[in-house]
Amino acid sequence: MAVTVFIPTALRQFAGDRAEVSVEAATVGEALEKVTGEHAELRRHLYGEQNALRSFVNVYVNDEDIRHAQRLDTPVKDGDTVSIIPAIAGGATTEAEAVKAEVLPTLSNDEIARYSRHLIMPEVGMEGQRKLKAARVLMIGTGGLGAPTGMYLAAAGVGTLGVVDFDVVDASNLQRQIVHGTKDVGRPKIESARDRLSDINPHVKIEAYETRLTSENALELFREYDMVVDGTDNFPTRYLVNDACVLTGKPNVYGSIFRFEGQASVFWAARGACYRCLYPEPPPPGLVPSCAEGGVLGVLPGIIGAIQANEAIKLILGGGDPLINRLLLFDAWKLRFRELKLRKDPACPVCGENPTVKELIDYEQFCGLTPPPAAVQTNSETEGRMEEITATELKQRIDQGDDLQIIDVREPNEYDIARIPGTKLIPLAQVTQRMGEIDEGRETVVHCKGGVRSARAIEALTRSGFKGKLVNLKGGITAWSNDVDPSVPKY
Ligand code: ZN
Repeated sequence: MAVTVFIPTALRQFAGDRAEVSVEAATVGEALEKVTGEHAELRRHLYGEQNALRSFVNVYVNDEDIRHAQRLDTPVKDGDTVSIIPAIAGGATTEAEAVKAEVLPTLSNDEIARYSRHLIMPEVGMEGQRKLKAARVLMIGTGGLGAPTGMYLAAAGVGTLGVVDFDVVDASNLQRQIVHGTKDVGRPKIESARDRLSDINPHVKIEAYETRLTSENALELFREYDMVVDGTDNFPTRYLVNDACVLTGKPNVYGSIFRFEGQASVFWAARGACYRCLYPEPPPPGLVPSCAEGGVLGVLPGIIGAIQANEAIKLILGGGDPLINRLLLFDAWKLRFRELKLRKDPACPVCGENPTVKELIDYEQFCGLTPPPAAVQTNSETEGRMEEITATELKQRIDQGDDLQIIDVREPNEYDIARIPGTKLIPLAQVTQRMGEIDEGRETVVHCKGGVRSARAIEALTRSGFKGKLVNLKGGITAWSNDVDPSVPKY
């Protein structure tokens, strides 16, 4: 039976860069065996101990989740599709109303003129517009996803928008974070977003929180709002947002993006699955790259963020078919939408029948991010510390003619943007396979963009038995540009 196995973007590098693979198989397990049999790296990412699928990986046959029962013996027939869906680093009814305003506010004549295209639609009308005005929506982040959601929610007349961000506008944000402009580079995002949103609609009250969302402040903050729009870009905050939403009973309007791929859903424990029902555990640190490492098509967060705004508005209006128990997948490169069914997991640690998570935890630790990665703590020869060199020291050593080899573990397209002269490119994912190309007899400096991937490469090489001396370039090529050669562009 010929079945098609879809490989997600984040894992394609381990599958010969292919988006889909056609295999002959009678069961799901057999199909996955065949695909991973050819690609050992892919296998390592999908399976954990005792050959069980890792818990941050979901498998669907057509649109059915077969993972909960670990039913790898599920039969497949000709033409079926098997989708591997890993976690990716961003309607009210009578039984659960999203907005609980006792008395709806009235609209001024100015507001009636502004919202006329809403008011003439029966699905919104005067009552719906007044519900929007009564609504209080909390947005986590004003980045790629938060920019379009904030702008559309403000334009639609959502009465109160809470905005949480602690970041500063950087030139590299402007490719997608359209709420900020060139004149805002260097300003706190929260100020830039407030100005833009107030300009779009002065009737909207902006409540700005220039702070990091933490386990200490999340519950208090969430209780003040009707729903939360998750525009975060990292796993600890994603799990924090999910758990705080479940504990306070708020809907979580979810979106995430990576390169060309996006996901969206509405997680609302009162009505269905939560994020942990879908992904009980985060991927190990470093396995799924962030947008800063992997890149993202600028328009993608515009599409996913607009879908989040659409879902938030429907929850406020209490109409339409919300994305509850549905996971929407979007591939911008192929221009393809797919939809998968979600199920509430009775064993979910936070929204299940016997929850074990009853208060917020340490999410950095949960995601394996504290204590700091072992990469900066261990190396074979030295007394348990990875050796580092600064960009300035490296330049001095090159100038004095020391015998060094420099290995660049970034991706080829990053190498095209900027490079340090005389380096050899071996991307991180290939570094152990291509270990033979690194001369053990010479001192080796390893570098990447900022110093994290190179530390991982050194760790991987050391684990694989590399005998030579390995030194990490502190701050990567960015430090080289800052401290040695400003003509090397920063990206
Ligand atoms: Zn759950």
